[in-house]
This record gives sequence, structure tokens and C-alpha cells, in this order.
Amino acid sequence: MGDPEQHPGDIDLEAFREHGHELVDWIADYLANAERYPVLSQLKPGEVKGELPDSPPEHGESLEAIFRDVESTIVPGLTHWNHPNFLAYFAITGSAPGILGELLSAAFNVNGMLWATSPALTELEETVVDWLRQMMALPEGWFGMIQDTASVSTLCALAAAREAISDLDVREQGLSGAPPLTLYASDQAHSSIAKAGIALGLGHGNVRSVPSDDAFRMDADDLNRLIRADRADGKWPFAVAATVGTTSTTSVDPVPEIAEVCERHGLWLHVDAAYAGPAAVLPERRDVLDGCDRADSLVVNPHKWLFTPIDCSVLYTSRPDVLRRAFSLVPEYLKTEHGDEATNLMDYGVALGRRFRGLKLWYVLRAFGVEGIRARLREHLRLGERLVAWIEADPDFELMAPAPFSTVCFRAHPDDWTDDEAELDALNERLLARVNATGEAYLSHTKLHGRYVLRASIGHLRTTEPHLARVWALVKRELSTLLSE
Ligand SMILES: *Cc1c(COP(=O)(O)O)cnc(C)c1O
Repeated sequence: MGDPEQHPGDIDLEAFREHGHELVDWIADYLANAERYPVLSQLKPGEVKGELPDSPPEHGESLEAIFRDVESTIVPGLTHWNHPNFLAYFAITGSAPGILGELLSAAFNVNGMLWATSPALTELEETVVDWLRQMMALPEGWFGMIQDTASVSTLCALAAAREAISDLDVREQGLSGAPPLTLYASDQAHSSIAKAGIALGLGHGNVRSVPSDDAFRMDADDLNRLIRADRADGKWPFAVAATVGTTSTTSVDPVPEIAEVCERHGLWLHVDAAYAGPAAVLPERRDVLDGCDRADSLVVNPHKWLFTPIDCSVLYTSRPDVLRRAFSLVPEYLKTEHGDEATNLMDYGVALGRRFRGLKLWYVLRAFGVEGIRARLREHLRLGERLVAWIEADPDFELMAPAPFSTVCFRAHPDDWTDDEAELDALNERLLARVNATGEAYLSHTKLHGRYVLRASIGHLRTTEPHLARVWALVKRELSTLLSE
């Protein structure tokens, strides 16, 4: 028998306790003062790796030593999504309650593959996704589950759509010998739709891009025409992905008209509301999900505009039986006695193991409450309107797309300057690089109808109107410097 004192177990829990307290203090200071860091990491490729040892330590190190390197090596290599002037991509917040939920989930370290492997994981997940369903006024009875990302939620939804095709036994037979299956999304849809098509073996060429209109919304008549033409051509249209809040401009596809087309042709309707879905928590913005009650599946990301630390994406479906049929495969060692009274979440997706993600969402929803979440979403929308007003009032700038939420597309276009589009593209590209190089703010860009456009997205809980005003002043200042050069 070995000496129990010599048993090589975990580190000393008193050291954990002591360092853990310090770490939480550090995190609170970090969140309060994220502004002291450059938003965009100023490092060059390879600089972080250059600071790290090539091989692992032979002997254990203290938590303090590890954390010193976090401060000296890791933090400088971060782009600070917690900085209030982070306006790139979709700004997000891992709120304090969400961080605590995440910490607890690491501590419990349960794997919710089956109901029995942690009943609380499955049942809390079922409960919080149903709370969120109610908050967004989605139909009663819809099934929901948490996935890591919208990309994976969409992949699973479209796998279900493929499974739903009657007459084709894709699950058993695969796609060989089947007619080409076609999937439809607008030219503004997120790349995850096409990626899902690629991963599902449809072929990228069978992911059809439907033209969008002047306001960047899918044209339902064009959709209908494309489906008919593909049918006539021997293809097999099976699903449409509509977007509520596209990634470039946050435009909202006309879901009621698209649902009509889907119903006419018997196609699965998937709605990508990864970013903008939470807007429906506001009674006055509930219309953004108009028609979505007719969808077969819908994805929304609490890790985007619902203050939950990444990763947390919720996939809803009105047809869980089909989703289950697409994925359920139970080997002997995973059989349990609970039958139909308990949900085994492994049956509804690719992954077997699953983290306790419901815990952080539960912390967020409880700590803020529905009213608290509404107040925060309204403030972001108000800030978005402020920015739009500043842009519209300024002769040197122009708005490049409607801004239905708190993400704004604009560009510099000085009155007395050229109207040459290529030169305007170059000017705006240089402007963005200059703004981001200051480290004071971080914006991103997109292309709309071929034109280079700047994007500012407001979604962090610590972004206030003075922050936004400072970013706006910075953009204007950098433009004047650029023009005077
Ligand atoms: C961000 C985004 C996605 C991808 O989200 P992930 O969770 O990173 O996979 C998909 N669709 C839309 C509309 C998005 O804005």
C-alpha cells in the first residue's frame, strides 16, 4: 500500500482557494478597467509563441508563476472584446453573472451526454431554453437545446432538413445515387450556411445564393423562381435558410413571404437569428421574428447579444422527432432504463459529450431578469440610433445601409472629395487601418454592392454614450489627418 500522503492527486486545495480569490479580484478589476488596454492586440504574428517555452515544464509550477505569465504574455496578445470601444464584428459581453456560471460549470465538470449522467444539466438546459423561447415569444412546444455555436446549430438543423426528405433514405443510403439536393439562402447569409451544405455533402454548388434587394433582404420571388428552375432541372430543393439580422448589415429577410414559398414547395425553413434574435425580447421589436412561428428550426446565440460568455448557441425546432432521427445512435454502453420520460441530449446532435452551458445562461437570465435584459438591449438600440444620427448629420460621412439594430454600416465620403468609388474604397480602408492602429477603438468592415464599408456594432454592456462619442471623434480626427496628408 502506498503512503496516502504521497498520493499524486490534485494540487493543494488551499493554494487553489487562495489563488482563486486573487483571480476573482483580478477579473473584477480587469472588467472595470479594460479601457487601459489597447482594444486590438498590437502584437505581430509569432510574438506570443516567441514568449512561450517550446516544451512543457518537467516539474509543476505555482499558480502564481503561471498567472505572472498570463499578465506578461497572454494579456498583451488579447484583443479586448471587453473594451467598451470594441465595436468590430458583433460586440459581445461575457457578463459577470455569466462568468460565474461558467466557473461553476468547470467546477462541476459534468458531462450531460445522457439525462442520467447529470439530470440537473439536462433539466436546467430544457428549462432555460424554454424561458428564452418565452422571452422571444416563439411558439409553445418548440424543442430547444444548447450547442456551442450557430454554425453547429445550423449544421444540425440542416441535417434534420435532409433527414426530413421523404422518399430519400439519406441516413441509411447516404447521398450517392440521389438527385442533387439544393439549399437556398440570400447572398447576405452567413458563411456557416454554405459550410453546413459542404459538410453535409450537398456540394457548395448546390447551395444557392438568392439575390437580395436594396435593403439587403432576400427576394422571395427570386427564391421561388430559383426553386422552380432547379426542380425543372432535375434538382431536389429541400431547405431554405432565412436570416434575421444578417452579418454585414443586420438586414431581416421577409420571413413570412419565405415561409409561404417553403410551404408551397414543401421545403424545410431554417431561420438564422444568431445575432438579432434577442431583439424580440423587446415587446416593441417582436416583429423581427414575424413569420418565424412557421419555421422548422431557428438558431439564436446568447453568446452574441444576450450577455452570456462564448460559447452558447440555442437551436430550436418544431420537429425534434426529425432532428432525433437524424442523429440518434445508441450503442449498448449508453443504453439507460429511462426510456421516453427523460431527454438524452446526445440524441439531437453530433457531439456525445456536452458541457453544462445552461448554467451560465441561467445565471444571466436570473441576475438581470427579463426587464433588466430589455433595458440593456434598449440602451444598445438607442446608442445605435445616436451613431446613425451623427453620421447623417456629418457632411464627411454617409450611412451605407439601414440599421435596424445597433450595428451601423457607414463610410467616409467628404463633400468636396472625389466620387470615384475605387478611391473611396481606398480612403475608407486606410481610415479603418488608422483608427484600429490607435488601439483606442476597434471597428471592422464589410463590402456592400462591391463597396468598402466600415461597421460599428454596439453590444458590450460597458459601452456608454461618452465612449461612443469618443470613438466618433477619433474616426473624424483620423479622417482629417488622412485628408490633410
Ligand atoms: C455570428 C453569426 C453566425 C455564426 O455564429 P457562430 O456561433 O460563431 O458559429 C451565424 N449567423 C449569423 C447571422 C451570425 O451573425
